[in-house]
Amino acid sequence: MPRATRRVAAESHRDDRPAIRLVLAGRAWVRGRLQPAEIAIDESGRIASVGKVRAGAPRRDVGDAVILPAATDLHVHLREPGGPADAETIPTGTAAAALGGVALVGDMPNTRPPVADLESWREKVALVEGRAAVDVLLYAAPTDPKALPALARQVGGFKVYLAPTTGIDSPPSPAEVPALWERLAEFPLPVAVHAEDPGAFQVDLHPDSPVEWNAARPVLAEDSALDGMLRAPPGLRLHAAHVTTVNGARKLQRARLSFEATPHHLLLSDRTGSDARFKVNPPLRTEAERSALWEAFRRGDVPMVASDHAPHSADAKQLPFERAPSGVPGVETMLPLLLARARSGELDLGVLLRAACDRPARWLGQPHGRIAPGHRAHLIVVDFRDRTKVVGAKLASPCGWSPFEGWEVVRPREHYRDGERIVEAGEFVGRSSGRVVRPEYAAGESASRPTLAE
Ligand SMILES: [Zn+2]
Repeated sequence: MPRATRRVAAESHRDDRPAIRLVLAGRAWVRGRLQPAEIAIDESGRIASVGKVRAGAPRRDVGDAVILPAATDLHVHLREPGGPADAETIPTGTAAAALGGVALVGDMPNTRPPVADLESWREKVALVEGRAAVDVLLYAAPTDPKALPALARQVGGFKVYLAPTTGIDSPPSPAEVPALWERLAEFPLPVAVHAEDPGAFQVDLHPDSPVEWNAARPVLAEDSALDGMLRAPPGLRLHAAHVTTVNGARKLQRARLSFEATPHHLLLSDRTGSDARFKVNPPLRTEAERSALWEAFRRGDVPMVASDHAPHSADAKQLPFERAPSGVPGVETMLPLLLARARSGELDLGVLLRAACDRPARWLGQPHGRIAPGHRAHLIVVDFRDRTKVVGAKLASPCGWSPFEGWEVVRPREHYRDGERIVEAGEFVGRSSGRVVRPEYAAGESASRPTLAE
């Protein structure tokens, strides 16, 4: 090719690139450390380049703050349809996510009705579109074998409940589980599992406190259900939700299965509080179990953190212990609580960002969670001097309480969604432009299934 032609081709190629919408400049988490960077974001909301000077584009320097990837919370309950609006809706729950630095939530299907066929899935999509502040990945419950193939072409993942919980009264019997694994192995989708074996519950107890709740749904029940997951066929993209013990974490790690721990199981024990606000499934464990799990998380031996955000109303949580619903709100406080731990030196920032941002986004097949060219510019700006305390009444979820009341947090100052600012000075300023997403790796029949990456 003559030199002149080559130069013209190169220039026209350069002109095809989308224009730069914004350059975010400052210390940023790039390739595993904080370093000075200029992050150019194009009109499509993708990161065009990192570290190169871009003249002429609008530029925002974050000063003494740092730029981090926004998080993914792969386990929330936004409670629509069928939930009480005084506790949560999709707009309030996704605004809470945005304020907490979470760019994508994985919403669980145990609503009323549950998302278990195409009709209920469409109803849920209609509730998300135009009302969500951040992206939403919808899980379905694989309760109807006939509905599975059509559902698998639309949904973002499956959630299997091995024990009764809110909205799920009759989980599959242990004898039915192997056939369920075989059916689900046909689809290239993540399968999250609520791993408690009801056969190991102490049903004759009438628990009246978190300590007794822990005795009624003991560690043994989780252990037994995790053993069942280890017997599932290879090729199934299994993920254990809310693992509560270091023993369970070790077992899953050896089997190279994905799992998460929640901030409440990492930070609260069965003696932190005595009333039903601290009732959650699986239960809060003893202080010894909690601190061992926290140490495992600190070492990087827990691959992901997720909130299991379950914003029951304060009234519902004031019912007598046995009748009160299980679950705690958490999507808005998850990252801020852990950023406060990173600030105090108790938690390595890299360990936190891999568990909260990088791995869950990759697990759900989403191009964000890292500051790298080609990724969607879902970014947060954090100033570690912004130390505040959790005030339940001020959270975006109308439930108005938190099990972490008074705990120190570092909340993101700004949150960019596809390069557009949706949180400014700690206030939500975005639009309801969140979309329903599904794993990009599920797009083709022969799509390779990424394993749990390092
Ligand atoms: Zn849950």
